[in-house]
Amino acid sequence: MESVRSIKEMQVFSESLRNNGKKISFVPTMGYFHEGHLSLMKEGKKRGDCLVVSIYVNPMQFGPAEDFTRYPRDFERDRKLAEDVKADVIFCPENEEMYPEYYQTFVDVEEVTKNLCGFSRPAHFRGVTTVCAKLFHIVKPHVAIFGKKDFQQLVTIKRMVQDLNIVLEVVGMPTVRETDGLAMSSRNVYLKAQERESALSLSRSLVIARKLYEDGLRDSGKILREVRKYIEGNPYTGIDYAKICDTTTLKDVEYLEGEAVLALAVKVGATRLIDNYVFGETLDI
Ligand code: AMP
Repeated sequence: MESVRSIKEMQVFSESLRNNGKKISFVPTMGYFHEGHLSLMKEGKKRGDCLVVSIYVNPMQFGPAEDFTRYPRDFERDRKLAEDVKADVIFCPENEEMYPEYYQTFVDVEEVTKNLCGFSRPAHFRGVTTVCAKLFHIVKPHVAIFGKKDFQQLVTIKRMVQDLNIVLEVVGMPTVRETDGLAMSSRNVYLKAQERESALSLSRSLVIARKLYEDGLRDSGKILREVRKYIEGNPYTGIDYAKICDTTTLKDVEYLEGEAVLALAVKVGATRLIDNYVFGETLDI
């Protein structure tokens, strides 16, 4: 497995692969791998001849009061895990090269980023779309794999790729969970022992919503009331949002008719966790 830091080197390598008719699959990450990341990499291996995994904690997508500096990092561990799943290249660019002096170009996807995390974390998605657009130009992938755990991110990237006519297939993969249902996240390491149980309130409330839906309830307000009640019944929790949205527009829906997603962002202690459930899809909890 190759480790590449230089943007130019990555571009030259990708270009030569393309010239040799190879299919490049790409998994962009911020590192500190867990099984969720590895599931994307395994899918990437199936879908391409060369799997590139990027590790880049992108400063542009963190707000000033967020956890950029303390975001967990462990390159050696990540390198071994990526090697185990036979990733071909790890690309880890430097901030100075990604955003040099005089940098001033941004990609904004306007509508689907207004609700949910876009509301709570202004400028977050602008950072995500800008870095992904840059990474797509550097890695030149044919297929990029993202997790559905970051549902709004996936919708936003798909929108950007379509709107900017980027020739790229974007694939969304199911959320990988701990055996008790907690969605895997690099940020789970922040949870204190006593908060870990309360963190389960997210996935458990998704199960409650699924049951209500399967029993025929279609009124978003009524489903959300039960979801909120359950989460608030757990110590250390503070709901940032609990919403039911159309899966294409990400606008709130009052009544479940078309495809809809229940999206949650909940602070458990000081840790902000997200999770979601697309009504009618399987939920392995
Ligand atoms: P991150 O390193 O957190 O930026 O995540 C990198 C990629 O992994 C994103 O496409 C995420 O959606 C995806 N991902 C994160 N957690 C999970 C999970 N539990 N299951 C599946 N994919 C995930």
